[in-house]
Order: sequence, then C-alpha cells, then structure tokens
Amino acid sequence: MRRRLLLALPLAALAPRAAAGQTGGAVPVVASFSILGDMVRQLGGERLALRVIAGPDVDAHSFQPRPSDAEAIRGAALLVRNGLGFDAWFDRLARAAAPGARMVTATEGITPRTMEGHHHHGHGHAHDHGHAGTERRRQHAVPPRRVADPHAWQDLRLGQAYVRTIAEGLAAADPAGAEAYRRNAAAYLGRLAALDAWVREQIATVPPARRKVVTSHDAFGYFGEAYGVEFLAPQGVSTAAEPSAAEVARLIRQVRAEGITAVFVENMASPAALERLAREAGVRVRGRLYADALSPPDGPAPTYEAMFRHNVGLMVPAMRGEA
Ligand SMILES: [Zn+2]
Repeated sequence: MRRRLLLALPLAALAPRAAAGQTGGAVPVVASFSILGDMVRQLGGERLALRVIAGPDVDAHSFQPRPSDAEAIRGAALLVRNGLGFDAWFDRLARAAAPGARMVTATEGITPRTMEGHHHHGHGHAHDHGHAGTERRRQHAVPPRRVADPHAWQDLRLGQAYVRTIAEGLAAADPAGAEAYRRNAAAYLGRLAALDAWVREQIATVPPARRKVVTSHDAFGYFGEAYGVEFLAPQGVSTAAEPSAAEVARLIRQVRAEGITAVFVENMASPAALERLAREAGVRVRGRLYADALSPPDGPAPTYEAMFRHNVGLMVPAMRGEA
C-alpha cells in the first residue's frame, strides 16, 4: 500500500506547485516532524517559510505522506530530517520528489543507542518488504537483531547537537542569514543547557529506586540514559506493531512487584494498551507524555523546551508516588 503511494508521488510532483516566490522572500524549509520544526523555527524565525510534514500529535513512525507534501519538498531550499530510520518516509519522499535537494540529518554524528528488536520490528521494515511472515520466521532462527533507537531528541545534550547541525544546514542554505542563525543558535543552546540542568535537579529529588516510568513505546531510552530513569514499555522503539499479550502481562507483574506508580500514555500513540495495563496492575494513568510529537500551539507542549518541562513536571511527582 505504502509502496504504491510512493510510486505515484513522482507523477504528483510534476503537477504545478506553489513557487518559492510565494513565500515572500522567506527561505522555504521543510522539516519532517514537529520537534525538528520547532528547532528550525527557534533558529530561523521570520527568515523562514517553514513547513512541517508530520505535525502536532502525529505519529511520525507510521506517517503516510500526501501528494501536497511532495510539492512542499520540491520547493524547499532545505530539508530537515531526524534520520536513524525514524522518518524514512521523508527520505523516500525527497528522493522521489526532489532528488539532489539539500538535506540536513539532525542525528548526524550521533552514535545511536541500540536495542533488541523485541517480538516485532522497529520502523516498519517488514511492511516495506511485504514479507512479514518470512521476517517472523527468520527472527526465530537468528538472535534478535539490534535496531537503532531514533529518539535522540529525548536527551537535551543530543538535542543541542541537533540544533548545531540544523543551524549549520540553515547557514549553508541561506548564507545571507548565517549570522542570524549563529546568534539564534547561541541563545537557544544556552536555554537548552539550562533546561538540561533543571531536568537533572528535578530527577535528583526522586529516590533512585523509584526512578521508573512505564510508557506506551520505547521513546524515552535516551532520556533514561541521560537522566538516570528506567523506562519500561510494552512496545519497542517503533509504534508499528501491537504489543504482545505476553509482554503486557510481564510488565503488569513488574509494575505490581516493584510498586511502580509512574504510568503514562503518549500523545501520539494509542492509549488502549497502556490503559488496560494500568487497570490490571491497579495503578492510575498519570497523564500524557509528549514523546515523538509536540502538542498544538494551545496545548501543554507546543515547543521542544515546553515538552521537557511538561514531561518532567508529570514524571517526577508520579515517580515519587505523590497523589
Ligand atoms: Zn517513537
């Protein structure tokens, strides 16, 4: 299904499009998903005509681009993606609609953490090949394969690396704005460093044995490594597959046995499995963490910085077991 859509894209891309001139002199930039979009906005502000493809509350793991997205990519002076398999649909779209377009990969230079592939696949590779049955059989024959965890933005120090990389890309695409991007980057990096220190202070108020959080999928591995919190999830690093009953049952036993009180749904993932898990474990869902997408502007996490303040503000009292 997805493949057929992508084959149709080059034709769609031949249709007349909104020309770059319609952006009123602003530099057209396209970001694959909302968190990168906010970083670009913080760096470029009014200089840019920014388009975000996978918007607020949208699950970018399973995103299906539309023909209008291909048109936006064709007119862009710069494309910004996460990489590490998170937004592979964006690469395919770019290759089809705008081969040779200038592209920045925000995770470039970051050594990804890797995880076992679990009982299902990260990032929909099985769907891409259309041989899910073959893949399943092969998984029984070989040790679980390691998959790269793409959620590096959940560590604010790696988020700072994103910002440096994106700022360089913007300066290369728009040399007249290079000084402005450098200035904005310096201010933004300062705020992110302060936010990183605040997160560490907040987590330090939680007794080490209580630093455990249950969420829908493994979106917070980098957060966990950076800030010393153990994250548990019934789904792996992608939202592509349903969690297995065995994995949910195992987690329920662990939540009960370890007295874990910090259980959350995610803004862009289905809450059903987590709500059932919480019910069966006899704990309350403590709210909604922003994992892979920001909120709309009037929500609690409309920016990358607001997302951390919101998430940490929910996690800390929940981990402490406060009402
Ligand atoms: Zn994710």
